[in-house]
Amino acid sequence: MKLVLAHFLHESNSFSPVPTPWEAFGPKGPHLGDAAVAAMTGTRTPVGAFLDAAAAWGAEVELPVAGYASPSAPVDRDAFERACDLIVDAVRRGCDGILLDLHGAMIVAGGLEDGDGELLRRVREAAPDVPIGVALDLHANVTPTKVANCDVIAGYHTYPHIDMYETGERVARAFHRLLLGEARPRMALQQIPVLSQTLKMNTSEGAMRAFVDAARAAELEPGVLCASAFGGFPMADIHHAGSSVVVVTDGDDDLACRTASSIGAIAWDQRDDLVWHDSDLVEAITAAKSAPTGPVLLIDHADNCASGGTQDVMTVLREALRQGLSSIAVGPIRDPEAVAQMIAAGVGAQIELPIGGKLDMPSIGLRGEPLVLSGVVRAITDGEYTITGPQLTGVRAYMGRTAVLETPHTTIVVTERLQEPWDLGVFSSVGIDPTGFRYIMLKSRMYFRPIFLPFAADVIYCSGDGVTSSDHRRFRYDHLRRPMYPLDDTAAFEPTTRTVTSGLSEGKG
Ligand SMILES: [Zn+2]
Repeated sequence: MKLVLAHFLHESNSFSPVPTPWEAFGPKGPHLGDAAVAAMTGTRTPVGAFLDAAAAWGAEVELPVAGYASPSAPVDRDAFERACDLIVDAVRRGCDGILLDLHGAMIVAGGLEDGDGELLRRVREAAPDVPIGVALDLHANVTPTKVANCDVIAGYHTYPHIDMYETGERVARAFHRLLLGEARPRMALQQIPVLSQTLKMNTSEGAMRAFVDAARAAELEPGVLCASAFGGFPMADIHHAGSSVVVVTDGDDDLACRTASSIGAIAWDQRDDLVWHDSDLVEAITAAKSAPTGPVLLIDHADNCASGGTQDVMTVLREALRQGLSSIAVGPIRDPEAVAQMIAAGVGAQIELPIGGKLDMPSIGLRGEPLVLSGVVRAITDGEYTITGPQLTGVRAYMGRTAVLETPHTTIVVTERLQEPWDLGVFSSVGIDPTGFRYIMLKSRMYFRPIFLPFAADVIYCSGDGVTSSDHRRFRYDHLRRPMYPLDDTAAFEPTTRTVTSGLSEGKG
């Protein structure tokens, strides 16, 4: 048995000014071929689970491409075409099954709204009779095209995403039953006209917890192979953005539809709790100032790297310094120019320089505003480390060249590349122990939780500026289908009544 696998992930933010070229998908671009297998074997990712499953089944494996780029603007067309060609060419060489580890919210520059769907369409076209299993992120915007061009879909059940590997296992289990001819998957897609906000998608509380718990429970029902609740990615100005449910059953269309609709109705009924209400930044920093002990996490969620932020907006830090906060460790700021200046100055040098604010954000009418700071260059590194925390465990991370600026009130990690603070490595790899600071400012929304919460005294959400604002009224949606809650009061939930099935599923058994 031969399987073709792929790992190619991007969450595209329509409002981000940060481009997404081929090089963004790895140290110098994605890992290819044998290097891809070496890079992903043993990682707690869906493709890590696919590799383990293939080994257990005694299958030969081809992994033509393994690449992940931090969320940013839609993917450059040539990067998308290159990845598609590598995967489709591998499929054309012949295989018995295909397992893909995708994000599900990839847009391609030039107006291709559903990059993952287009990739799946091409793969299916190249091998119409070969089963395809797909793992997706909880933030996937699931479309009819995606569902129609594969046989099994499962999405993460957690955010923060600590079940990536287990999601790969869920896909592999259902896929294997299909391969053996033991199951005939039927998939139902329930789209929900709710643009859920990322900050309200914590799967351990509120509406999102109820939504995901219903999917977990459904997966234990007889006849259900996979059930997944997708929060969706709201910063995608595409027709099919929004929350959804995908249920895969063994040959039972009615069960698939009924289950998907009843899970979807939970999110719809609790939609008020999927909307974030911003608080005032000045008041948030004032509250931080009066916190009795530290470390207090200052969450700069409007410029969140893992949702497509420029990661260089200085609004929150500027306000914190204005109000006299001190002992602040600042999670990665992306500013290649500042890194170059600090490297030129050298470790130990006293330097004054503008930090951040280098990128304008025309989609929300904001100009970049650097913050001029003086301090000492404390460290310079290549920015590489291996993730040891519970998210993306074992994956090598590349921050680009990285420098640390220590000022009287802050210690700032400045990187060349986008980097979510998803692991202590963003600090420890440059010699910083964040636990010793009174404040830790992170450009994060949810990934910080399993890493920093265990030792934090408090968490304060700081509504700054940026292209990942949790207030959707700051964005102009031209392509999103309407009506959509909370943008429109007239949005209505319609239960799905049909399964979207591939010709393959029809023909099996
Ligand atoms: Zn996600």
